[in-house]
Amino acid sequence: MKALTVRQPWASLIVLGVKDVENRSWSAPAGIIGQRIAIHAGKTHNGNEFRSALITARWGGLPGDDEPNNTMRWIHAWWANRDLPYGAVIGTAVVADCHQCDGGCSPWAVRGRDWHWSLTDVTEAHDPVEMNGRLGLWEVSTHG
Ligand SMILES: [Zn+2]
Repeated sequence: MKALTVRQPWASLIVLGVKDVENRSWSAPAGIIGQRIAIHAGKTHNGNEFRSALITARWGGLPGDDEPNNTMRWIHAWWANRDLPYGAVIGTAVVADCHQCDGGCSPWAVRGRDWHWSLTDVTEAHDPVEMNGRLGLWEVSTHG
């Protein structure tokens, strides 16, 4: 399975099903569209990204009332970000689509030149598997 390294808190927001778009400067390879990829949480983070995530969440990036559990988990993750997993594969997602647009596709999409990787059908790993991340899409060995 291919894996994508994403910094926290974005990685956890993806596998919780909160953040449905990953912004990248490069387009997803055609062969990965419709495929499931592993989401790897990078080892580094900075406070500005946590602040940015919280602002996006407040401005409409959180799912509706049908997802109160995810919302509570996200709020918890924000207040205690040291508890987020780092340097590990924390779940998977299907790359449903990759496109460029004005940012209207999702509250999490960055307006501009970035490519929007639409992620669906996420799963969260019960036991994150620690490993080093890499740039780009990289191959991760999975347990069966
Ligand atoms: Zn878009």
